[in-house]
Amino acid sequence: MALKTGDEYIQSLKELDLKAHVMGQAAGGLTSHALVEPSMRAVAQTYDCAHDPQSKDLFRVISPLCNEEVNRFTHLHQSAQDLVNKVRMQRHCGNLTGCCFQRCVGMDAANAVYSSTFDIDAATGSAYHQRFKEYWAWVQKNDLVVDGAMTDPKGDRGKRPKDQTDPDMYLRIKERRQDGVIISGAKLHQTGMLNSHEILIMPTISLRPGEEAWAVCCAVPTTAPGVRYIYGRQTSDTRKLESCRLDVGNPKFGGQEVLTVFEDVLVPWERVFMAGETAFSGTLVERFASYHRQSYGGCKVGVGDLLIGAAALAAQMNGVAAASHIREKLVEMIHLNETLYSCGLACSAMGQPTASGNYLVDMLLANVCKLNVTRFPYELARLATDIGGGLLGTMPAAADLEDPVAGPYIRKYLKAADGVAVEDRFKVLRFIENLVAGAGSVAYLIESMHGAGPPTAQRIMIGRQGDLEGKMQKVKSLLDLA
Ligand code: SF4
Repeated sequence: MALKTGDEYIQSLKELDLKAHVMGQAAGGLTSHALVEPSMRAVAQTYDCAHDPQSKDLFRVISPLCNEEVNRFTHLHQSAQDLVNKVRMQRHCGNLTGCCFQRCVGMDAANAVYSSTFDIDAATGSAYHQRFKEYWAWVQKNDLVVDGAMTDPKGDRGKRPKDQTDPDMYLRIKERRQDGVIISGAKLHQTGMLNSHEILIMPTISLRPGEEAWAVCCAVPTTAPGVRYIYGRQTSDTRKLESCRLDVGNPKFGGQEVLTVFEDVLVPWERVFMAGETAFSGTLVERFASYHRQSYGGCKVGVGDLLIGAAALAAQMNGVAAASHIREKLVEMIHLNETLYSCGLACSAMGQPTASGNYLVDMLLANVCKLNVTRFPYELARLATDIGGGLLGTMPAAADLEDPVAGPYIRKYLKAADGVAVEDRFKVLRFIENLVAGAGSVAYLIESMHGAGPPTAQRIMIGRQGDLEGKMQKVKSLLDLA
């Protein structure tokens, strides 16, 4: 099947006709909903890039799974170069959209499930891997968006899943039947869920014997009966409902997070890829997390490029582009951003094949990448705020620009360097505001902190993978210690 264009993808979503609760109302027609549409357009870019002569070589790849050319967003990485190309592709998408383009989670989930099901089968004689291969070949051939669903609500964090007052705090198998399993629970913070065709569900933590009900990995369509969606709010999101687009900040694109409820959803056995194998839940979680921690070394860098560019434009518009302190700050921003990219590339270049044949990132370096992502975008945002100036927080509404009384005052007093249109200054400052304090900050800052796990999760992995013992041995050997 030919790779979809962005328009064909949007048409496919229209045919799904998903419903959600949005801002206190049951809403349909989501593909043209003012709060949802920008996020759908961001995903559509991942399709259009596979047709753009400038980028299609990067976005298209032959999949050995279905022996066809597929969009790299559905690819199972076959080499370290594939992993590198994934990060390059994500930076490119960040450059085009200035937001989260949502499609990476399914790609990362698929790569983790592919190798994990192989390992389960090898150890237990199950048949999950072949099932998953058939499922994913179908996803590739139909060029679908798959939401990788991991984060459970978790209830009381001090208790294990089986000790929770409400067992649905971790998504679970409620019933095993001849025709499949019934699942019950929820997944929080689901990136791009309403822009997806399928949901690939994974456990959220490493599970122990006795917790088999929560060790579940499976796939359901987003249209499955019993799945409900509640749309997440973002800072300043109602600006998208205003007729004047100038205050939105990012006028074309946006991200999307959704609370997704699974109320007694039937999953047929051919879509079940783990059902009780607690010993492999930790492996699956770690692999998915590592892939997604690598992803941030591409997407956040792409958005960071735009933030740096906007800060440089703001300085230029203020007439201070040549000031040494501005140059220093911009260089620092570039340094921070390229450090993140270096981490994304490094964990990719050092990737190794799994027993199943697809490639896994270097997990230590992927965690170093993400730990830096929990900090550097905040520093980039601080520097952009510094360069942008106080107007970032006090600028009048763009609608007042057209007001016959207020408009002339705004044009007179918000004029900066000669030759700079006040509207252009508004656009640049609103774009910076969007990323450091507005709707875009959900993905650029809060998600940088918590997406793919908070900093503590990376520190734990770095502690495990960092080979402290080996480092001590090297010193003993060098110094001839006993
Ligand atoms: Fe992709 Fe980045 Fe969004 Fe994750 S946060 S889905 S890696 S764009």
